[in-house]
Amino acid sequence: MPASSSPTPELQIDLSAIAANYTYLKSLVAPGVDVAAVVKSNAYGLGIDLVVPALLEAGCARFFVGDLREGLHVRKRLASSATIHLLSGFGAGDTDECISSRLDPVCRSLPEALASSGRLPQLSLAVDTGFSRFGLPLSELATLVHQTSRAPDLLVSHLACADLPADNTNVLQHDRFMAACEIMRPRKRSLAASAAVWLGNRFHLDVVRVGSALFGLNNAGIEPCPLQPVVALKTHIVDVRTVQPGEAIGYAASFRASRRMQIGIIALGYVHGLPWSAANAISAVIGSHIVPVVGRVAMEYTAIDLSDLHPSLCLPGALVELIGSGLSADAMARAIGTVPQELLVRLGSGCRRQYVCRPLASRGAFH
Ligand SMILES: *Cc1c(COP(=O)(O)O)cnc(C)c1O
Repeated sequence: MPASSSPTPELQIDLSAIAANYTYLKSLVAPGVDVAAVVKSNAYGLGIDLVVPALLEAGCARFFVGDLREGLHVRKRLASSATIHLLSGFGAGDTDECISSRLDPVCRSLPEALASSGRLPQLSLAVDTGFSRFGLPLSELATLVHQTSRAPDLLVSHLACADLPADNTNVLQHDRFMAACEIMRPRKRSLAASAAVWLGNRFHLDVVRVGSALFGLNNAGIEPCPLQPVVALKTHIVDVRTVQPGEAIGYAASFRASRRMQIGIIALGYVHGLPWSAANAISAVIGSHIVPVVGRVAMEYTAIDLSDLHPSLCLPGALVELIGSGLSADAMARAIGTVPQELLVRLGSGCRRQYVCRPLASRGAFH
């Protein structure tokens, strides 16, 4: 591929793997537990327009979206009958749209809850049990009960440490949530996000809210990873050069060749969502060879070390994978010092997205 055609990196998204992960997560909870999909921030950057239909087909009937705009989009274009909750809470100005589009805002404060209970046909409520972000503190619940006689349809809280199973915060938040349920008597209770699915049945309650796990991210750190990988990050070599010992590679000369090296320049930079902190920290795959990224990540390009590869593999146009072929988004995030969710939203908005949908028979069993 000539450099002048300006190749761009591609984020491949496997919709069948998302559906398979949904089915797998469902198998981990009791039959009566509802598995809801969290598709905020454009389905973690992967594209709500194709992710939601894939989940609907897998049997998902309850979604949590980021805000009213996402909720309206999902209701009008994608899911005419599913239950849609808005994580952004309730603004009184949204009343008509919430009613006409059957959107259920999860109220995050006492004033929101009071406004919602007077205006909307259903009431959903977040309580703060220790995350200190949104939700009514337990101390305000009595006031709410006093001022509205309505029991909430859904009571939600969010765990801070679900990916650390031994952390006491989990039990503390669970107990506070159960106390809140005693006071509010909700029709449905929801405490667990992805990692809490592996904390045990008592965290599942009536509805679990999974985002990361659907997209193949192993927040709970289960080994071997029981989820199917969903994303692959692919690009091409656009230039190959020989670097003499002592010469520097890239900005700030952060990598210096200690020997004669073959360097490949790949079309992938921070404009595409690869964090700048990936410098000298991550690997790529060419064919069956793992090669290191060397030097800093620039806006549109990054360098990789091809020195140990046969020259026939090191030509402009050669395919390079940075996620996929054994390299997971989880491992890349660890190497960079971030969380894989951040990688997905960045790469999903910075790269061209390409969707694949494999027939069931071609998929491997869970490993
Ligand atoms: C994002 C979010 C989730 C989903 O979290 P994952 O760990 O990605 O499954 C669940 N609940 C709330 C309130 C969230 O904001």
